[in-house]
Amino acid sequence: MPFISSFIPPADRGQPAWWFIFQHDRLLVSRVGDSARVPLLDSVQPFGIDPQRAQFLGMLDTVPCYAASIDSPPQEGAEGMTVEPLRRLFGLLPEEQLRIAIRASQIVHWDNTSRYCGACGGPTRPSAAERAKMCQSCGLTLFPRISPAVIVAVVNDDRILLAHGSRYPEGLYSVLAGFVEPGETIEECVAREVKEEVGIDVSDIRYFASQPWPFPDSLMVAFTARYAGGEIIVDGKEVDDAGWFSADSFPRIPEAISISRRLIDWFVEQQRSGGGAAE
Ligand SMILES: [Zn+2]
Repeated sequence: MPFISSFIPPADRGQPAWWFIFQHDRLLVSRVGDSARVPLLDSVQPFGIDPQRAQFLGMLDTVPCYAASIDSPPQEGAEGMTVEPLRRLFGLLPEEQLRIAIRASQIVHWDNTSRYCGACGGPTRPSAAERAKMCQSCGLTLFPRISPAVIVAVVNDDRILLAHGSRYPEGLYSVLAGFVEPGETIEECVAREVKEEVGIDVSDIRYFASQPWPFPDSLMVAFTARYAGGEIIVDGKEVDDAGWFSADSFPRIPEAISISRRLIDWFVEQQRSGGGAAE
């Protein structure tokens, strides 16, 4: 089913709609066994759940989708209804609902953090023309914020660079990542992050894929690159250990939900098929 994004809700408010309701960073879902579903509004209202600050997201086929907030979790007795961190719902929600939940999470976060103008402190109100808010005092337009970050698989013949971030769980290694700085291209960001964090140079920087990452407002843009020179020297701040690993000697790596794992899986597949890096 295609999802059509829009900020203007349908005229008919009576038809069944999916509601992506957040209590802080937790999403309201109904849990049945090992799966989870986003509720219809009709199914939450009997339990006294009263969503606030509703935002229309768009239509999934013929079903309107809304995002909203609640102040407190559902009461005892709201059958199967629970609030869960979004990250825990990867793999439990149907794929199409998860995609919209990620979108909803980013819009709710933006809505909650753009009630006042960053320039003059005046109150904002929604724009009638687009998904944006206007400052009522100085006229500044505030758009939903998306923070681009790069993530890169650096390959050196039959080995991939994996690093232990200083904030990672013990023993977990992954590919390098970092936020794009003002004024730099995304490819410059890849080269800078690798150089800063592990001291090496890269070449053949190639786009791989991207993934919205709603913790809280990132867009992860993934690349592959080739090792081009230098010795690994970790920065000791973002990264406290790094090394070259062949596909048969991996340490613990991230779960399948993340684009970092897709990059690592790509490397493994390249090795199996006998292909070189980034080809
Ligand atoms: Zn203002």
